Amino acid sequence: MNRRHLLQLGALSSFLPKSTLAKTPKGNELPIVVSTWKHGIDANIAAWNILVKKGTALDAVEAGARISEADPTVMSVGYGGFPDREGHVTLDACIMDHQQNCGSVAFLQHIKHPVSVARKVMEQTPHVMLVGEGALQFAKAQGFKTENLLTEKAKKAWQEWLKQAKYQPVINIENHDTIGILALDSSGNLSGACTTSGAAFKMHGRVGDSPLIGAGLYVDNEIGAATATGMGELMIKTVGCHSVVEFMRQGATAQQACQEAVERIAKKLPNFKKFQVGFLALSKQGDVGAYCIQPGFNYAVKSTKQDKLQDGASML
Ligand code: ASP
Repeated sequence: MNRRHLLQLGALSSFLPKSTLAKTPKGNELPIVVSTWKHGIDANIAAWNILVKKGTALDAVEAGARISEADPTVMSVGYGGFPDREGHVTLDACIMDHQQNCGSVAFLQHIKHPVSVARKVMEQTPHVMLVGEGALQFAKAQGFKTENLLTEKAKKAWQEWLKQAKYQPVINIENHDTIGILALDSSGNLSGACTTSGAAFKMHGRVGDSPLIGAGLYVDNEIGAATATGMGELMIKTVGCHSVVEFMRQGATAQQACQEAVERIAKKLPNFKKFQVGFLALSKQGDVGAYCIQPGFNYAVKSTKQDKLQDGASML
């Protein structure tokens, strides 16, 4: 084949659809995205639309998280989330990329998309985390508009809760709809995001695991990524997601790593049976793992091979 033919071929190949079937060294097809809970299905679709166009995992996880944040039927994330015991919707979120960059907001009010504010913190400030009034001021300065996030439905649930005013979160129902989303893009890079309105009817000012790098989300592009849902205090006490990634570094599969992190909680925290905690992990090789304390935690997986909601294995 002469040089002219090669040039013609080169010109032609730029018009061919680029293959989306990149693979990890272990043979898993890229890209892949995983998200916590049933609403993860819709989040994955938004993320997938970016990933198949060779978009970055970072853009994908942000787009996915925004779907749950805007959905008023998801009552533990963003708009429509349950308020704290004083009736305020206060939001926590974080995001982390493949270069160890991360951004986070906590106790943020009136902004529908805290994950995007977290990304701005990551990209536009020298800091990792902004909270409360400062986070709100920053969001406004970045052009985010303020709005009322308390829907009538969430307000009614809060007024109902006030009749007893007992903080006894109901496992798998009241508190556990945080979206944690992890993606491995067609370049083989990992990113993750996590966003929540936190524990329903929490104390005013309470911040959970979801905006805390290491507790509710952790990404190490050499090893893998992990996110968590459930009673955040347990993840904070054990720095759960960092543990999951470190277990993978020591050789555990994504599945084994999630199980080990739940076992760590069970070993260290005697009252663990009263709570739900679920970990979801995605290794650099594209393997997925999930494990929880109580049955009932599920997660959505989307890749070229699968598009489904799966039940996480549980300890109890
Ligand atoms: N982990 C969240 C928190 O404790 C709650 C959840 O997963 O819904 O704030």
